[in-house]
Amino acid sequence: MTIDLRSDTVTKPTEAMIRAMAEAEVGDDVYGEDPTVNRLESIAAERLGKEAAMFVTSGTQGNQVAVLTHCVSGDEVIMEANSHIFYYEGGAVAALAGVQTRTLAGVRGALQAADVARAIRGADIHFPRTRLVCMENTHNRAGGAVVAPEQMEAVYETAKRHGAAVHLDGARLFNAAVALGRDVTEFTRHTDSVTVCLSKGLSAPVGSILAGDRAFIEEARWWRKKLGGGLRQAGYLAAPGILALTEMTERLQEDHARARMLADGLRKLGLHVEPVETNIVLVRTESAGLTAEQFLARLAERGVRAVDFDEYVVRFTTHRHIGDQDILKTLEIIESVLTA
Ligand SMILES: *Cc1c(COP(=O)(O)O)cnc(C)c1O
Repeated sequence: MTIDLRSDTVTKPTEAMIRAMAEAEVGDDVYGEDPTVNRLESIAAERLGKEAAMFVTSGTQGNQVAVLTHCVSGDEVIMEANSHIFYYEGGAVAALAGVQTRTLAGVRGALQAADVARAIRGADIHFPRTRLVCMENTHNRAGGAVVAPEQMEAVYETAKRHGAAVHLDGARLFNAAVALGRDVTEFTRHTDSVTVCLSKGLSAPVGSILAGDRAFIEEARWWRKKLGGGLRQAGYLAAPGILALTEMTERLQEDHARARMLADGLRKLGLHVEPVETNIVLVRTESAGLTAEQFLARLAERGVRAVDFDEYVVRFTTHRHIGDQDILKTLEIIESVLTA
């Protein structure tokens, strides 16, 4: 038995999701005729406090369609230096939208409004136009850090003052909302568009949501089609997505509790662990005299899987298939690695 702490993306659909897939009423979604997709999109729009929403194949596609819809080629986009859009999307914003990225170092993943204000370009014939500011919440590379609604508001107000749009990569936005005990709309009201993943901790097999105002989503549908993301009987995938949004968000607290349990145990073993706010635990491996790669290889031999984030940083991610016993077993195995 392996204990797979690589990512919350390894979660499989629940039995209720599989049943919902089998029973889904479907049609051709490119014609707008799939009733289950239409229902998912209207539930998602309402839940996220936006006029409209669109089902997309992945979080990456949602982010890319958002940048393509907001920007024209040559625009400048401000984003956090370790954000997913910048770090993990294959350079797609440059390749597809042809935008120039301006990266700013955040504080635990949060862009600072004063830095954004300084970075936004004024009117000068030499300058590109700052069309878009992207935030990420929770912030993956900052260790699942939560960006508070107030921090988002400050960035949003700054962007609006200068005529720039704001996109939120909210792949794990429900984790942020549950962690602070606040409604997702308290975050999304400080955005023009937002992406959320259905296929991570929420356990749907496939897909993400892109939400925004009606005109934005209409234009986004054209970009999605152009990227090959127009799907046909997609209701089979949207049906579990509906359950992801309506049944699976509150249980994320359990993942957060287990992440804290893992972090506490790792600290007791003498390891340096970054602050844990949601379901991600970043651990430094120097004190064990091992690189992240060496540490992971030893864990893998003993049946525990995680991923490396840096030469000496390992990421563990808790999710629905990880119980208390798995955390205890993981700690036991790590102790055996440290004392070997
Ligand atoms: C996972 C993730 C994405 C991309 O989602 P995919 O569905 O894997 O393409 C985007 N942003 C963040 C912060 C993520 O964690």
